[in-house]
Amino acid sequence: MARIVMKFGGTSMAGSERIRRVANIVRRQQAAGHEVAVVVSAMAGETDRLVNFCREANPLYDPAEYDVVVASGEQVTSGLLALTLQALGCQARSWLGWQLPIRTDDAHAKARIGEIDSDALLASMAKGEIAVIPGFQGVTDDNRITTLGRGGSDTSAVAVAAAIGADRCDIYTDVDGVYTTDPRIVAKARKLKYVTYEEMLELASVGSKVLQTRSVSLAMKEGVRVQVLSSFIDDDATPADEIPGTMIVSDEELEGIDMERQLITGIAADKNEAKVILTRVPDRPGAVATIFGPLAAANINVDMIIQNVGRDKGETDVTFTVPSADLLRAQTLLEAQKEAIGFNRIITDGKVAKISVVGVGMKSHAGVAATMFRALADRGINIQAISTSEIKVSVLIDEDETELAVRVLHTAYDMDATEAA
Ligand code: ASP
Ligand code: MG
Repeated sequence: MARIVMKFGGTSMAGSERIRRVANIVRRQQAAGHEVAVVVSAMAGETDRLVNFCREANPLYDPAEYDVVVASGEQVTSGLLALTLQALGCQARSWLGWQLPIRTDDAHAKARIGEIDSDALLASMAKGEIAVIPGFQGVTDDNRITTLGRGGSDTSAVAVAAAIGADRCDIYTDVDGVYTTDPRIVAKARKLKYVTYEEMLELASVGSKVLQTRSVSLAMKEGVRVQVLSSFIDDDATPADEIPGTMIVSDEELEGIDMERQLITGIAADKNEAKVILTRVPDRPGAVATIFGPLAAANINVDMIIQNVGRDKGETDVTFTVPSADLLRAQTLLEAQKEAIGFNRIITDGKVAKISVVGVGMKSHAGVAATMFRALADRGINIQAISTSEIKVSVLIDEDETELAVRVLHTAYDMDATEAA
């Protein structure tokens, strides 16, 4: 017997028929003798709909009330899945975030999980009851509802898996694993059998929508075994125990399995970044601190940063990116600090995309960035900003060139699947 957390995303939960399919997958795992907890997303499109209502109500919405609204989508699907499981003759009950509880900090709309009380949950599972837990939501110490940021149900699933000491956390989604890049952009993308935590972390943080970034760092930290697989499988498909999807493993584990690693593991594109340029910022110590301090205090994550070479009069332009969703707030904040920072103009551009190539292989190989710049230049794609880490190179380009850039790079790094594969 194993203890398994199964997580189902929005497309898997969209409508009664799909929920019934999910219920059957869950029931099969339980019938195989496993203890099962299920974490669910809201129905596809539902969270977007709820977010829109918040924006319409108040463009500068209070994140605490936003959380009250958007957390509701998962409450609906968790209740519906429990009902559907009961209809199949299983014992099942829902556990809302505040009922377990899943404690978080008070950073509304992007709260971090602190502690999950698992005693009641484990007792219920031991009785043969399937636990159904709405993802994405938690509760603060003073009992206000929080959400974990978009895509947060993955993080809920991993956190629950860690809390109950699960043998595995299976993330069921609408794709059957992690691909070298988005197969909708590159038809020759290949499914990866294994990917390391580090690579997955980079891929998730640069726009691969398969898993929420924080779920991966949490899994890495807690040593949770995560597998990504499809919920759109037939009744007679190979059971999850036999690895049909992509398994996320540690570096050491991978070395033992896959000796012939490719240089690059994956390419991701992220259109949810916006570019901000502050012109003629005083070129003196402390200047950038006055820019990024207030943004950090407002919980706005800055990603790429470039400080251009100084102009003659002791001034410099500073370019950086923020999540598109935070652009309006960032702009408002910076305008309010105009005097203190001392910039001349603020220029924003929401029509940019960040393209990243990721792979542990590049730790020991030179020339990865050069290949990227050459391939993009050959197609006339202009690079507006660059950032790198040990296993990643990212560039900022015009959003309209996203698909072209991804295709060009997939070929440049010899990642295209051959016909036979
Ligand atoms: N429903 C939430 C969202 O769309 C959380 C999730 O699905 O993971 O972001
Ligand atoms: Mg998701």
